[in-house]
Amino acid sequence: MSKIGFIGLGIMGVPMAKNLIAAGYSLVVYDIAEASVEKLVSAGAERGCSPADVAAKAGEVIITMLPNSPQVSEVVLGDNGIIHGCRGGQVVVDMSSIAPLVSRSLGGALAERGVEMLDAPVSGGQEKAEKGTLAIMVGGKSEVFERVKDILSKMGASVSLVGELGAGQITKLVNQMIVGINIAAVAEGMSLAKRCVVEPRRVFEAIRKGLAGSQCLEDKAPRMFEGRYDPGFRIALHIKDYWNVLETSRSIGSSAPLSAQVAEMMIALAGEGNDTLDHGALGLYYEKLNGVSLRERE
Ligand code: NAD
Repeated sequence: MSKIGFIGLGIMGVPMAKNLIAAGYSLVVYDIAEASVEKLVSAGAERGCSPADVAAKAGEVIITMLPNSPQVSEVVLGDNGIIHGCRGGQVVVDMSSIAPLVSRSLGGALAERGVEMLDAPVSGGQEKAEKGTLAIMVGGKSEVFERVKDILSKMGASVSLVGELGAGQITKLVNQMIVGINIAAVAEGMSLAKRCVVEPRRVFEAIRKGLAGSQCLEDKAPRMFEGRYDPGFRIALHIKDYWNVLETSRSIGSSAPLSAQVAEMMIALAGEGNDTLDHGALGLYYEKLNGVSLRERE
């Protein structure tokens, strides 16, 4: 098996890269944070000196797992970027959540060097990254997808090709829109129950198997009742995703009023210093708005 390049070793990248090592792949890795690189080197990976160096040392596939569009652009096109070390026939698989239009433009630049690109953002947090059970949504050419599918399946329970380059990012944005709006709906409903002196936990038990039931309700309502907002998925990352949602929808004249509203709620939470809390902390927003506590024992 040829060596895989892996750039971006944060909360998600470390367990994803470790799963590839556990599956028998050899890795060459890079991150600007030396402590993160060390975690992988001690697990058996080779240290790369820059994204260009990783690309030069990697075989067919180079994976990136970075915060957002500017970092992916820097790693691909920057001074020591992948573009300066890659060669024809390689595939860059960007698994970060970034703006779809940026994915498409990076794919165009790489294509000029004979390098293919797939966008392959993931759903599921650190726990699923550790278990190798992420949902991976991929955009790009089907023949390129077939070449990397086995590698992706070592990190995800589901690996779906959803369309051309950028379609994976669009799918991820849709996911984030639905999740954020759903959590806000849970918080809004539960705060009405509390204002009406009906116990939110009993409302939850009564409605969870009906049409209002959802994974968001199951995961986030109990957090609100317990005041448990440790991440999970941080407010700061969800704001970043909403920023990409609104930039994308506005660029094509598609209206997304609910997303705009939930983004504002999250920005308000971040402004109060809650940006590192789980996005379930929309419960706190509604507590303040309606002067109630959703917690059970208060
Ligand atoms: P993170 O901030 O923990 O990790 C990002 C890593 O990229 C860091 O180690 C950082 O040092 C590195 N980095 C930043 N700029 C760099 C550069 N120029 N060169 C090399 N390395 C650089 O983020 P994360 O939580 O691992 O998330 C990564 C991506 O996955 C994000 O796009 C996020 O939205 C998405 N995502 C995260 C989760 C989650 O629960 N954390 C879930 C699904 C998707």
